[in-house]
Amino acid sequence: MLDNTTKEIRERKSKGLINPAKTCQPVGAMYAALGIYKCLPHSHGSQGCCSYHRMHLTRHFRDPIMASTSSFTEGASVFGGAANLKASIRNVFTIYNPDVMAVHTTCLSETIGDDLPSIIGGSEVPEDKIVFYANTPSYHGSHVTGFSNMTKGMVQHFSTATEEEKKEQVNVIPGFVNPGDMREIKRILSLMKIRYIMFPDTSGVVDAPMTGEYVMFPEGGTKIEDLKDTGNSKATISMGLSASADAGLALEKKCRVPNYTLNTPIGVKATDEFIMKLLKIGVSKVPAELEEERGQLVDIMTDTHFHFHGKKVAIFGDPDVVISTTEFLLSLGMVPVHVLTGTPGESFVKTITEMLDHAGLKANVKAGGDLLMFHQWIKNEPVDLLIGNTYGKYIARAEDLPLIRIGFPVLDRSVHSYLPIVGYKGAMRIVEMVSNALLDRADRDAADEDFELVM
Ligand code: SF4
Repeated sequence: MLDNTTKEIRERKSKGLINPAKTCQPVGAMYAALGIYKCLPHSHGSQGCCSYHRMHLTRHFRDPIMASTSSFTEGASVFGGAANLKASIRNVFTIYNPDVMAVHTTCLSETIGDDLPSIIGGSEVPEDKIVFYANTPSYHGSHVTGFSNMTKGMVQHFSTATEEEKKEQVNVIPGFVNPGDMREIKRILSLMKIRYIMFPDTSGVVDAPMTGEYVMFPEGGTKIEDLKDTGNSKATISMGLSASADAGLALEKKCRVPNYTLNTPIGVKATDEFIMKLLKIGVSKVPAELEEERGQLVDIMTDTHFHFHGKKVAIFGDPDVVISTTEFLLSLGMVPVHVLTGTPGESFVKTITEMLDHAGLKANVKAGGDLLMFHQWIKNEPVDLLIGNTYGKYIARAEDLPLIRIGFPVLDRSVHSYLPIVGYKGAMRIVEMVSNALLDRADRDAADEDFELVM
């Protein structure tokens, strides 16, 4: 019998993908590892892989992304990378001195079949230092899968239930979102006056301030003692089925911490669900400040409804972000016509289809798709607006469409990673972006008409 990975490879080989709407697992694993305090991500593979992953993250966050590599050469490719990893562990702790090394694999080391637990077990790790790992074969899944695997690896390595009674604290796994989103989720949790442990937490790492002095490990990131303490929390909220649920479920299994998987809190409905879940978990009331923000958002949506109603949208990106954004677009009265993610997974199609059915709509929906197909869909049925990452710009240019850059990677714009799209404040930002894009287009069309009249 074929396992799922083999089936997926055969299926993709037979169909072929052109401009897949995703990148590779280690990118997500590297990003997740950066969310631990004083952690150096380590890529067990060739230098080229590591450079590519660092480059992608550096361009998206516009901050230097630090990571080390096992630097495979032909010898390691043939005889295995054990010697390289052992030498790397020695060198990294001697030269860079992180507290933790988070090792992830690449296509090459996975294909060779390097046995990471045995290699790490036989390495010279200084007494007060930690090395843990996640398997991230890139011929399966996407960068979101890599993020999920590394986050699950954190649970498997660190989380421990040491207390008889669970503590009055909640674990929050934010998923593959920007540090600006993580800060906003933490702001909401603080307003709700609940003690929390967020992991991974890349705020303060990939959005660290300029101080005039270079530090290899900025102040942000989840502390190791907090990661261990996640096993004593009374609940886990894992945001996003694709990026966070596996870690939440692993924690439930390992330490009996109940896991609640919610949609990424983008838009009114998903944010409401997040807040209602916190109430159910034990927060006594919603603070007036949050009620006010929600009220403002609903007011804005009502005031601007006529801009959006009936406008057709094509949206692509990572599954958790696309699902919640699509839900929010429906709340705005917009019509998602083409919805695609590059990350394979049947739940995406099911969730989006149910959402659209509920709204009485039909659309092209696909998981594991590519941008060639997405472009064809748009040619066959044109839309008013395109939402996706930087790679959507080629379609936007070809079809003369406004593009809103949401998701990962956004390589040709700046500041986006500092500003949230989650929570009520984030939803206001999305409304502003959609509104500006549609109105700019309308202004331009009107100007063109005036020009034609003059001519
Ligand atoms: S070889 Fe695999 S791990 Fe390396 S960059 Fe390519 S897809 Fe990613």
